[in-house]
Amino acid sequence: MAVSTFLRPQESGPDSPVLEKPGRLLIGGEWGPGTSGRTFTTYDPATAAPLGELAEADASDVDAAVDAARKALRDPEWAQMSPAARARVLWRIADLIEANGDELAYLETRDQGQPLGVARGVSVPGAAEHFRYYAGWTTKIEGATSPISLPNTLHYTRREPVGVCALITPWNFPLMILTWKLAPALACANTVIIKPAEQTSLTALRLAELCLEAGVPEGVVNLLTGGPEVGRALVAHAGVDKVSFTGSTEVGREIMRSSAGNLKRVTLELGGKTPTIVAHDADLDRAVAGCVQGALFNSGQVCAAYSRFYVDRSRVDEFTEKAAAAAAALRLGPGLADTTDLGPLVTEEHLRSVDGYVRTGVEQGAELVTGGRRADGDLEKGFFYRPTVFAGVTDDMTIAREEIFGPVIPVLAYDDLDDIADRANDSEFGLAASIWTKDLSTAHTLAAAVRAGSVFVNMLHVPDAAAPWGGFKASGVGREMGPYALEAYTEVKGVFVNLDR
Ligand code: NAD
Repeated sequence: MAVSTFLRPQESGPDSPVLEKPGRLLIGGEWGPGTSGRTFTTYDPATAAPLGELAEADASDVDAAVDAARKALRDPEWAQMSPAARARVLWRIADLIEANGDELAYLETRDQGQPLGVARGVSVPGAAEHFRYYAGWTTKIEGATSPISLPNTLHYTRREPVGVCALITPWNFPLMILTWKLAPALACANTVIIKPAEQTSLTALRLAELCLEAGVPEGVVNLLTGGPEVGRALVAHAGVDKVSFTGSTEVGREIMRSSAGNLKRVTLELGGKTPTIVAHDADLDRAVAGCVQGALFNSGQVCAAYSRFYVDRSRVDEFTEKAAAAAAALRLGPGLADTTDLGPLVTEEHLRSVDGYVRTGVEQGAELVTGGRRADGDLEKGFFYRPTVFAGVTDDMTIAREEIFGPVIPVLAYDDLDDIADRANDSEFGLAASIWTKDLSTAHTLAAAVRAGSVFVNMLHVPDAAAPWGGFKASGVGREMGPYALEAYTEVKGVFVNLDR
């Protein structure tokens, strides 16, 4: 059944491809080249070398995948699988992710660029734990009896699967973000069509193979590789009941509009511009270490990346100096190298976009303290960008307002803590916020005042399967993780029963 075409890490060197043959589409339990037979190339961002070819799905493949997923939804093997048996399938997927962890981490690093330590220590365990968390939920998805006032009538609720779910994912944490959708979707007995980001599809392909190996019945998990057109066709398809999308706010808006045809259920996890508030009483060394990591983790390609820093004016120079020194000391390099702290950006196109923001920052009068250019020398073939710190940033500057999604730290000063929540909230985004203080009152007052889906006090932006994840305002619609995801992947049905004899 599994048709892995991946070369093992030991078989492929740092510049060689990782795919032996073109990757395939998974439709109804069968791996195939797609109707058109067309392929596209996926690249290693550390070297710009091709990693292999992937099948490019077209509209007829989308139709076939939707048909397969609809059929599987009614197939007794899945529809009537007991919650306990479904739990065992999810648990097996988690075990297989761990058993194949080295390979998955290697693929993620080659495809996305993240340091191998991040792939091994965050992406792979994060993916496995997500399946374990939702394996626990399959046997706890409950209805309720409702205290209705109709005479002699019993009312109870059932939670049923939404149906066929299109799971459309971005390129920054390809494996982990897919599991945030796939694990709860399967826990609630839905069927899915995965559409990974075209830049980084490799770990999704491997995970789909592992799902089959774990005993997920044919047609329950389908996977289509390809570009935005494949996503568009899924979003517009009348046979798709739900879209769960993680990606840019711009595409999120388009998805909201185009899913209106059959009024699909939509969950959107979108962009962010996380405000980070460093109070006058903060432990500055701890704040600097946390802020620099919070900004530069995965080279700043994190939706919740700390990306605008409001620092008490009395400490802003010290903060900027220390942050610039810490950022400049980070070692750039290929994700496979042990010495690497920061890997490349995902594509040349994305690097140009980040550099464009940096140029705009300079033109608008921000002071470039460190970085501000592409790395050269040994790294010039890859998409490496020097970690960048700006001082003297003001609220109206583009680098303080728009999502850059790269290794850029804009520092702003503030005089009055009472104004800071308003300044932090003056943004279209509301995904996360970060607060650094030793004062309990400051921490909780600001945590309540900022408009953001998650607030991190004196810590990094670390998600957890048991805690809700999602955004206020243009950062999204709905929540993933925790019991909240069960709501997103089920419909509530009320049953009225007349008890008159
Ligand atoms: P993107 O929106 O360009 O693409 C995401 C996915 O959508 C890809 O699979 C792409 O092929 C597909 N797609 C593109 N256009 C489409 C369309 N019109 N209809 C349907 N599908 C379409 O995003 P990206 O550049 O891959 O990812 C970066 C963005 O993702 C950033 O804005 C980041 O903040 C956001 N993000 C958010 C979260 C979160 O949890 N809120 C997490 C990670 C990334």
